[in-house]
Amino acid sequence: MNMMKSATVKTTCPYCGVGCGVAVPAAAPRNARVSGDAAHPVNRGRLCSKGSMLGETTGLENRLLHPMKKGARIGWDEALDEVAARFSSVVATHGPDAVAFYVSGQLLTEDYYVANKLMKGFIGSGNIDTNSRLCMSSAVAAHKRAFGEDLVPGSYEDFEEADLVVLVGSNTAWCHPILYQRLLAARAKRGTRIVVIDPRRTATCDEADLHLPIAPGRDLRLFTALLCELAARGAADEGFIARSTKGREGALAAARREHRSLEETAEACGLDPSALETFFSWFAETERTVTAFSQGINQSQRGVDQVNTIINCHLLTGRIGKPGAGPFSLTGQPNAMGGREVGGLANQLAAHLEFDEPGRGKLARFWGTENLAAGPGLKAVDLFDAMAEGRIKALWIMATNPVVSLPNADFVRHALKTCPFVVLSDCVAGTDTAAFADMVLPAAAWGEKDGTVTNSERRISRQRAFMAPPGEAQPDWRIVSEVARRMGFADAFTYRNPAEIFREHAALSGFENGGERFFDISGLSGLSDAAYDALEPVRWPMRGAGGTPRLFSDGVFATPSGRARFVAPASTVERLANESAFPLTLNSGRLRDQWHTMTRTGLSPVLGANAPEPVAEMHEEDARAAGIADGGLMRVVTEYGSGIFRASVTQAQQRGSLFVPIHWSDVNSAMSSAGRMVHPEVDPISGQPAFKHTPARAEAVMPLWRGFFLSRQEIAPPGCGYWASRRVDGGWICEMAGLSEGEAPPELDLLAGESAGAAGGYEELEMRDGHAGALRQARLGNGRLTDCLILTRGGKLPPRDWLASLLLADEIDETTRRVFLSGRAGEGAADSRLVCACMGVRSDAILAAIAKGACNAASVGVQTGAGTNCGSCRSEIRSLIERVETEEAA
Ligand code: SF4
Repeated sequence: MNMMKSATVKTTCPYCGVGCGVAVPAAAPRNARVSGDAAHPVNRGRLCSKGSMLGETTGLENRLLHPMKKGARIGWDEALDEVAARFSSVVATHGPDAVAFYVSGQLLTEDYYVANKLMKGFIGSGNIDTNSRLCMSSAVAAHKRAFGEDLVPGSYEDFEEADLVVLVGSNTAWCHPILYQRLLAARAKRGTRIVVIDPRRTATCDEADLHLPIAPGRDLRLFTALLCELAARGAADEGFIARSTKGREGALAAARREHRSLEETAEACGLDPSALETFFSWFAETERTVTAFSQGINQSQRGVDQVNTIINCHLLTGRIGKPGAGPFSLTGQPNAMGGREVGGLANQLAAHLEFDEPGRGKLARFWGTENLAAGPGLKAVDLFDAMAEGRIKALWIMATNPVVSLPNADFVRHALKTCPFVVLSDCVAGTDTAAFADMVLPAAAWGEKDGTVTNSERRISRQRAFMAPPGEAQPDWRIVSEVARRMGFADAFTYRNPAEIFREHAALSGFENGGERFFDISGLSGLSDAAYDALEPVRWPMRGAGGTPRLFSDGVFATPSGRARFVAPASTVERLANESAFPLTLNSGRLRDQWHTMTRTGLSPVLGANAPEPVAEMHEEDARAAGIADGGLMRVVTEYGSGIFRASVTQAQQRGSLFVPIHWSDVNSAMSSAGRMVHPEVDPISGQPAFKHTPARAEAVMPLWRGFFLSRQEIAPPGCGYWASRRVDGGWICEMAGLSEGEAPPELDLLAGESAGAAGGYEELEMRDGHAGALRQARLGNGRLTDCLILTRGGKLPPRDWLASLLLADEIDETTRRVFLSGRAGEGAADSRLVCACMGVRSDAILAAIAKGACNAASVGVQTGAGTNCGSCRSEIRSLIERVETEEAA
């Protein structure tokens, strides 16, 4: 562990690709509150709700502490020996392509580097792929086609220096909140126009000057049309095109075959022609334009072409390599970019070298290996296909939960069952994926490990440890190095600390480079351990002192000719839904306060409060047609699986579309995992799954009974057709519903088991109304509430907050007992929800402020503090204001 000597340890948030700096008091205990690093150039002290609650996730709950084999604890030596022996045996018998690593954008660059070196450099297979494949591999492929290398041209300052920012397929307000706040702050000064192109009306649209609610899957058509219109409107930068690009005529000819008129394109995209005209004219007339895109563009069957059509528009107008201008890929994960630097994707080598000559030769010389992988390995979806066919016989999964996050997730389960040897190294115990692992290895978590991450703007920041790893947990780089040594590659894996790995990684970036690869951080290859420890955030390329905020400012690109390439998309014909069986299009994505499969954010009661259950959003007309009521239960069905969700009927969702969050899994819900329903269609070039467009249908679900269970103890799956559990202060809550006759309503004794607090015996409170099908049961231990079950067949359920607050009470008094038994539990208490996670402000406080005259998000903020930190909740505040105004007008 590498402790800083100062009173504060500066590290980096482990969630999204914005890459905010975090400050933690040195020697802080677990669960200590963290704050934003005021000196970090990305966030200048601000954090979003997820970052602000990082302290709540650093406890030992759910931590994997010891190596385990088939559920039994074993020693590290035995575990490492067996992993090395099993992988070596498979390689010896079946060849190197019979083994694979599936890794993660959660790994630090140093971890990633060592894993990639072992697989591609010494085992000799390309079979290492990453969950970043699911996030931005389409952008990587498009960058390489257009620029000759995977390069993000601009930086966050460009958002602040632009006059027009186009956000495409990105709910930036929720998924990249601090960058979004920087954009809004800049807009307040310079009047930046914001255009959002998204099928959904997301929180990001609230601040938009224009929202284009494009039909799902039509982005390619839109940007193809934009290219034609820019050319027709005289927006082409002929000098730049002549000096710095190739292929303009081919791309334009292909685009013109698709775009015949603005009206026709508007109809194909489901857009109002006048809104489309506004967008085209704003784009044509605004020199300083940034087009930022994220999963809505990348997670598509045509993701690579879609990114290239966006880049084409910037190449045509010469709006790249200049302040306030350029295409910009917003990466989802904290170290997606770092993984790309070290070759974490199966189809590329480390340091942006390619599987060609001279790329392979350079890397083999640098690593001193004769066993470098001959060609690309299997991309994520193909990898699990190969596993199901028996071609992968040993798999090592690092820091990810593919059973939840990959598409067609039940097939992934099947594939893992067929694999003879599955290793999982993770910091979390009991994930959905752990159930399929023969061996689990405890890895160090955020706050315990040292290394670097690279954010969306190519900025390398240090993650620093401020706690010792618990139990026997080890950093990933060390675990992989130990296995490498045991496989016979000791000389190449002699690392004693992450600084040594970083120096090697930096040196490789400059090795036989000669200026042809832009990724070059060789200026950092001579860092001492102390200098690495103190490394300030820096943007690559960094050949010497100082970093590079913006690429291509000299008009020179990383292609052999030095010119950027226009790329003509193959065709703009998208595969759409099988309309008879699956008339809807299922979209999936992130919520404001959760991260991935909730293995960490799920530990925070605060972060679980805003979206307490898995919700499927749909348009009111689709809901009416399916008999689905707002707040009721619904089933989403696709060709690959189904899920049960709480219905949210909203006009934010366009007709024909459904949206479900990606965060729930079988660990915290009955059947609400999005990955189970997503089709395994991928982009043919990048292999990135098309998470945004699965043909689906929705059905109403009528529960026979419903209710919830509160407990001081973690709640075991209750075994009914619908349930979803989460943390609350002082315990857990589980929403439940019985969906079939065979699902009898549960009894408190069965759910609660032997609760804590029973030293003096339990006292039980119970009220049954057989006629109404109502049950209220509570169990007290030493006068304190330990468990509580409320069920009803068709009645109203009480506010959860009032009952949950009783878990924190030292004693349940007689009045409270009588209220509970009378069925008037929580009467008078507002059923409020947490709106502002950062400041802990609930909807009842916001409604009170509105009643006192607050008429906009700013004045609500003045009265309550809500929305004054990261600002992600301002959309919800505005919705509350609108609701009150509508009610008053009625
Ligand atoms: Fe972390 Fe939020 Fe910053 Fe993303 S925006 S890095 S989640 S604090």
